[in-house]
Amino acid sequence: MCEGIKIVTQPVSETKALAQKLEDLEVAQALEKDHLVNMNKNMDAKFSAMENMLKAFIIQSGASSSAHKHGKSAEHVRCFFCGGEDHFQGDCEECKRLIRSGHLKINPEGKL
Ligand SMILES: [Zn+2]
Repeated sequence: MCEGIKIVTQPVSETKALAQKLEDLEVAQALEKDHLVNMNKNMDAKFSAMENMLKAFIIQSGASSSAHKHGKSAEHVRCFFCGGEDHFQGDCEECKRLIRSGHLKINPEGKL
């Protein structure tokens, strides 16, 4: 009999405990849900901040890269021979003309 009672009462208390646990879990889940909602809000704020930063970075890098490209064609292309800004020394017609005429000599490395 004692064993019978034990067997009967145990599941009941377990069920009660389980119900209590479930209740706790629901509360915890609700709290977690709130927490998650808050976290999502924070994440949204963080994400939009990051997105703005990223956009700014992309705009900045795009601007700097286009400025770099622009600078390359406008400033960095310069003939060291005649100073012309539309060609490199290797493409310099003046330089080639002088080499052909024998006024200039180029070593095997392509230098004057
Ligand atoms: Zn030149």
